[in-house]
Amino acid sequence: MDRFPRTALTIAGSDSGGGAGIQADLKTFLTCHVHGMSAITAVTVQNSLGVSGFYELPPTAVAEQIESVATDIGVDAAKTGMLASAKIIEAVAEVLRRLQIGPLVVDPVAASQHGDALLRADALEALRDRILPLADLVTPNIGEIRLLTGIEVRSDSAAREAAHALFELGPRNVLVKGGHRDGAAAIDLLFDGTTFTQYSAGRRATDHTHGTGDTLAAATCAGLARGLAMPAAVRAGKEFVTGGIDGSFALGSGLGPVGHFWRVKDLDEI
Ligand code: PLP
Repeated sequence: MDRFPRTALTIAGSDSGGGAGIQADLKTFLTCHVHGMSAITAVTVQNSLGVSGFYELPPTAVAEQIESVATDIGVDAAKTGMLASAKIIEAVAEVLRRLQIGPLVVDPVAASQHGDALLRADALEALRDRILPLADLVTPNIGEIRLLTGIEVRSDSAAREAAHALFELGPRNVLVKGGHRDGAAAIDLLFDGTTFTQYSAGRRATDHTHGTGDTLAAATCAGLARGLAMPAAVRAGKEFVTGGIDGSFALGSGLGPVGHFWRVKDLDEI
């Protein structure tokens, strides 16, 4: 390895409550031993009860943040989260393509777990056409799969059908996430166009899962930045988010976040 630490860039929205978005990504990058960098797309007004509003940055400001860090510091891997609008998506896609930034993990964020929109309705097409073809990995949950493909994932065969349909949209790998499905286990399915790899974790009895999608994608991105191959990076991502769900906690009066510090030593051990 030529340089320590490796670097990872998140292109996403700020969550003022600290459980998801940029904040989740940077905490995840830290505990997964990469230097985290950020390009903020939008600032959400958010607490444990939901998102009450968001303010987008100008598309050029988003692209300039990416270009600034990529041309000086260098990006070993990147991920996208909340991209908010078609214009931001176009600006992000242009700079990612021009500077050949990657490997790239795309979390196709459309809404929060409370159902608050984080992507404008007219931006879905731009996400599908401009960002997915650049992705080394796309990590949709079943709601995002419904939006992107129209497929309702209620069975293993539908999960495989969705993986094929998403793969046709251009990403090099697809991770169909099963966390929002019923069943005793949360099973995620990785598809590289030929082979399926399954990742399973026992379902945890907690409502405090705010930020799980971001955390899985960020931990996987950190693995790629550290040079892991895709199946190993996804395994590292799944392991990290499962530990985070085990360490999740109540905060405010709504949905609490995954615990990002579960791998950090207890204070009394330091
Ligand atoms: N807020 C921001 C800025 C996000 O990027 C995300 C998820 O990607 C969320 C909120 C939603 O997080 P969750 O669905 O885990 O509540």
